[in-house]
Amino acid sequence: MSAETKALLSDKMFKGMSLIMAPMGFGAIIHSLEFADSRRDPGFAARWPDFVEALDEDSIGWGIWGARQNCPRDPSGLNGEQLRELGLELARDWHPHLRALILMTEPSTIYDVKVRTSVPLTPWTSSNVTLLGDAVHTMTPGRGAGANTALRDAALLGRMLVEANQGRKPLVEAIHAYEIEMLRYSTEAVQESKKQMDANDLAHRPIVGTVQLAFMRSMMRIVNAIPALKRRAFRQMMRVRGEN
Ligand SMILES: Cc1cc2nc3c(=O)[nH]c(=O)nc-3n(C[C@H](O)[C@H](O)[C@H](O)COP(=O)(O)OP(=O)(O)OC[C@H]3O[C@@H](n4cnc5c(N)ncnc54)[C@H](O)[C@@H]3O)c2cc1C
Repeated sequence: MSAETKALLSDKMFKGMSLIMAPMGFGAIIHSLEFADSRRDPGFAARWPDFVEALDEDSIGWGIWGARQNCPRDPSGLNGEQLRELGLELARDWHPHLRALILMTEPSTIYDVKVRTSVPLTPWTSSNVTLLGDAVHTMTPGRGAGANTALRDAALLGRMLVEANQGRKPLVEAIHAYEIEMLRYSTEAVQESKKQMDANDLAHRPIVGTVQLAFMRSMMRIVNAIPALKRRAFRQMMRVRGEN
C-alpha cells in the first residue's frame, strides 16, 4: 500500500472487501489491510508479539479467478511476472484503476492457487485420532467459509474434550459426537462453496453466462435496495460461515 496505490481505490473500498463479477464467470476480490487501530493499542504487542512486525505492512490485496478452460494460458507454473501479464490480459476491459493496481503489484507477491474441493464424507469408526479444518473438509473459497468452519471445528472439539475430561462422556464417544456434528455442518459448507465456484457452472459459458450475469447483477441491486432481503442474504451467508 502506497499513497499512489491508495489513490486508485474509492473510500468505500477501505471499509470491507470488494467483489467484481465479470463476464465468462471471471471474478475478482480486492481488500485493504490497515493496522492503524492496532498500532495505537498499547496492549497489542503484549498479546500478539509475533504480529508486531506485520503492523508496518499495510497492504492492498487482489485476486482474480475464473474457469481454467477460459484462461488464455494455464496459470500453473507461471512466475509472478507472467501471472501479472495474465491478470492484465484478463482485466483488459476493466476499470483503468484496477489495471493500474495490477500493474503496480510487486511480481514476487503474485502466485496462482488451484481451487479444489473435497467430497462430503460419511461417518467412520471413531478413535482417539480425529480430523478438523481443511484436512477433512477442504472447500472452494466461494463462500469464504473454510477458515470459519475450521474455527467452528476447534470450538466444538474443545467443548467435547472438556466433557470427556470432566467425566461426562467417554473420550471416544465425545470425539464421535464431534465428528457427527462436524460432518453435518461442513457438508453444507462444502456444497454451498462449490456452488459458488464450479468450472461447469453456466456462468463460465459465453451466451447463457452473459444472461446469468445480467440477472445476478440485477438481483444484487434489488437485494441491496430492500433491507429485508439484505438481512435475509446476510443471515444465509452467516449460516454457512458458522454463525455460532
Ligand atoms: C484463495 C483462498 C481464499 C480463502 N478465503 C477464505 C475466506 O475468506 N474465509 C475463510 O473462512 N476461509 C478462506 N479460505 C480457506 C482457509 O484458508 C482454509 O480453510 C484454512 O486456512 C484452513 O485451515 P487449516 O488450519 O485447517 O489448514 P491450513 O491453513 O492448510 O494449515 C495446515 C498447516 O499444516 C502444515 N502442514 C502440512 N503438512 C504438515 C506436516 N506433515 N507437518 C507439519 N505441518 C504440516 C501446513 O504447512 C499448514 O501450515 C481461503 C482459501 C483460499 C485458498
